[in-house]
Parts: sequence; structure tokens; C-alpha cells
Amino acid sequence: MGNELYRHCLREENKMTKFKDLGLKEEVLRGITDQGFEEAFEIQEAVIPVLLSGRDVVGQAHTGSGKTAAFALSMLNDITPKKGIQGLIMAPTRELAMQISTEIKKMGKHTGIRIATVYGGQGMGIQLDALHRGVEIIVATPGRLIDHLKRGSIELGDITHIVLDEADTMLDMGFVDDIQFILDLSPEDRVMSLFSATMPTAILRLSEDYLHNPKQFLLDADDLSGEGIDQSFLVIKDRDKFKYLLDFIKKTRGQSVVFCSTKYRTRDVAKFLHQEKYNAVAIEGDMSQSRREQSMGKFRSGKADILVATDVASRGIDVPKVELVVNYDVPNQEMAYFHRIGRTARAGAEGKAITFVSYSSVGDWNIIKRQIKVPLRDLNQEMNIEISIPDPLKRQSSPRRYGGGGSRSNYSRGGSRGGGYGRGGGYGRGGGGGYGRDNRGGKRRDNDNDGKNSYGGRSRW
Ligand code: ADP
Ligand code: MG
Repeated sequence: MGNELYRHCLREENKMTKFKDLGLKEEVLRGITDQGFEEAFEIQEAVIPVLLSGRDVVGQAHTGSGKTAAFALSMLNDITPKKGIQGLIMAPTRELAMQISTEIKKMGKHTGIRIATVYGGQGMGIQLDALHRGVEIIVATPGRLIDHLKRGSIELGDITHIVLDEADTMLDMGFVDDIQFILDLSPEDRVMSLFSATMPTAILRLSEDYLHNPKQFLLDADDLSGEGIDQSFLVIKDRDKFKYLLDFIKKTRGQSVVFCSTKYRTRDVAKFLHQEKYNAVAIEGDMSQSRREQSMGKFRSGKADILVATDVASRGIDVPKVELVVNYDVPNQEMAYFHRIGRTARAGAEGKAITFVSYSSVGDWNIIKRQIKVPLRDLNQEMNIEISIPDPLKRQSSPRRYGGGGSRSNYSRGGSRGGGYGRGGGYGRGGGGGYGRDNRGGKRRDNDNDGKNSYGGRSRW
């Protein structure tokens, strides 16, 4: 579509940009300094001046790259207090929406700009009160925002700035119609930015339909492999996982996140950890909103050392200081792996990610492994743990297959969407149903209108 495409290379140390060189106002700069930010991250340096100039932006960047400040600072800079709702940020989950709000409130401390967070699962009353007091920026999940639009408690007529954060996740969650509905109600003349970890065609289409000649930034197209994260895996029997989890956790000083494939597993693992006297909290799809907030709060404040979670918690949630991510179960989508391990090594810190591969998940793991472009440590080799895969699986699971790093095959963005593991056959243990999962390739469609949780009450997550 004639859009310019910019690929940013890693900057050299001496080329760091200060926030004050980006054209931001004094009171916004003070908020940034209060936060302790000194130099702008790459995406911030790239995106802020463009948004300030009034041009739309499409940005692809991995988690932890600093997208929130990239879109929020220009918004805080341009919005006027007491002149109605001018900024709208949409995000896929309530956790993410709350996190964005918290961060903007801190950055905007000296601007007098007020922010309301609008998401399903919280009573309407609290949100209506905040809206009545007056706000300039709304951070919302699409479902609940539509409820407010329909009842007239939010109007979009004065909107000048719109952000779609984690757009690919919103699409995955089935929010595309909601997003279109909302965008159709907002003024044509606004600055809009769209951020996404991946750029499947559905996102490109959305951006063609709703953004005006956006400047595109592909910040780390090659960085989905979790570079900078010490990645390893261990093939073990499912029933041995807990024992190994304890071993790894004992060696960890900082906080850990443990990802499980279902809410049942999440609960079990959290329960085991409690029995072992660990300070663990859980987040899964069936928990009430307030309990999820409680867990997240404890973890974020450092009162809990371990967070056990389903993928609900892995999307875009910024948990600083996580040292270890354990994939207790192999994720059921390639992208989930990168989202999960993205919880560690944030903002340049170092981190570790260990994936437990049960014998029945070897096929799934092989698929994911091919997308990992950095050296991957084989803990079976390092720790001398033998793999004895029962007969039916033997054929494709001899230990030698685990040697060496992942292949360097290019990850085809978009290719994995929708079709899931369409390339299936080749990896299979022969025949259908071979992976023992019931939902392969199927996308979650639940949305979070007033729902009990972001992924709907009946999901396995
Ligand atoms: P993303 O949305 O891209 O995943 P976030 O906006 O959540 O990333 O930022 C990741 C982390 O980096 C947050 O803890 C944030 O406070 C921190 N951060 C963002 N920008 C800067 C900066 N310029 N300097 C230092 N830390 C920053
Ligand atoms: Mg973010």
C-alpha cells in the first residue's frame, strides 16, 4: 500500500536518545524522570516523534520493548485536561488494560490528565463513577467499552488519539468486529497507532482500513525467539515434572513464573507449591476478577515469589524482575511460547526459560523448537537424564533428536495463525489425534463482555 517500511537496527551505545530530544513538553518529561527513565528505548525514539507530528503508526515489537511509553507519551503530550475524552487505548485483557493505566498515571502525574480503566468483570458502578468525575483518557477492553458506548456513558466524538495495543491478541480473541464497531464510531480525524507482536494479514488489513498512511516500524522482526533469554528444555515424564520444578525453583533467587496448559494444572501446581511452603499465587481463567487482581498485586509487589498461570497472564503483562519462566507444559501454540518466555529478561535484564516436555508433547515441542533461532540448551544431556519414551512414540523421539539448537528456518508470521499447525502431517506421530489435544489450531473466540474472565468461563485457560 505504498507505506514506508522502516527496520531499525540495534543502536550503538553512544547513540542513545534522551527523552527531552523527542519534542515532549516539560510536564510530561518530569513524569518520565520521576519514573527513572533516562534514555528512550528504540521503539520510543522511533515512534514518539511520528505520533507527535500527527502521523499514524503501525509498530511491531516484542514484549518488554517499551510500547506503553511509546504511545502514551505523545498522547499525554497532546491531550488537554478537562476537555472531554480525547484518548482511547484498547487492549485485549483486563490485566493489560490495568497495567497500561497504572503506567500512564505515573507518567502523566504532572499533566492533570485523568484516566479511566474500563473492562469486563468489574461492576459498572465503579467505572461509571470514574467517568462521571471526568476523564481524558480511556483504557479499555473492547467488549466492555461497547457496553459503555451503548449505554451512552462513553462518547467518542472528541477522540483525537487512538491506540490498539497487542492487536494480534485482540484479533485472536475474536474482538475484530468489536474493534471495527468502535473505530467506526470515532472521528475520522485522529492520530492512531497499532501495536502488535506479529503482523498477520488480518492486522495489515485492519491497518489499511483504519489508519491513514501509517509509518510502519518493524522493530525486531527477528527477535521473536527470545534473544537474551537462556532457553532450555527437559524431556521428562509428566509425573516427574513437579520434582524438577522444585529443583529449579530452589536454585532461583528472583521471582519465577510457571505456565501451565489448563486451569486445573495451574491450581494443582500452585497447591503443590503451597504444600512445599512456597509463596506462590495463581492466575487462571476461572478466578474472579478480584482474586486475579489480588494474585497479580502480590506478585508485582514481591510478596509472592512464584506466579502460576495459564496463558491468560502471559500476554503483554509486564512483571519486572522475573528471573525464571518455567513452561510446566509445552504451550499449545508457537506464539504462546514466545509470549510466555517474554515474561523474563524484560527491559534488558537477564532471564531463564525452561520448558518441560512430557513424552506426549514431544511432537508439539519439535514444532516450536524449529522456530527458536538461538542456541537452546538440552537439559537431558546436561543433567544426564535419560529419555525412555514408551513404544508408540519411540520412532520420532530418540534422544539424539534433541541435540543442537533449533533450526534456523524463518518463522513465518501469520502462517501459524488460524491454520494452527497446518503443516502438521510431517511432524506427526502418524494419524489424527496424535497430539492428544482437543483444541489444536482452534482460536479462542470468547470475548470479555461482562464475562467472568477474559477468555470466557468455559475455556480451559
Ligand atoms: P511492552 O508493552 O512493549 O511489552 P512495556 O511498555 O510494558 O513494554 O515496558 C517494559 C518495561 O520497560 C516496563 O517495566 C517499563 O516501565 C520499562 N521501560 C519502558 N521504557 C523505559 C525506558 N525508556 N527506560 C527504562 N525503562 C523503561
Ligand atoms: Mg505492552
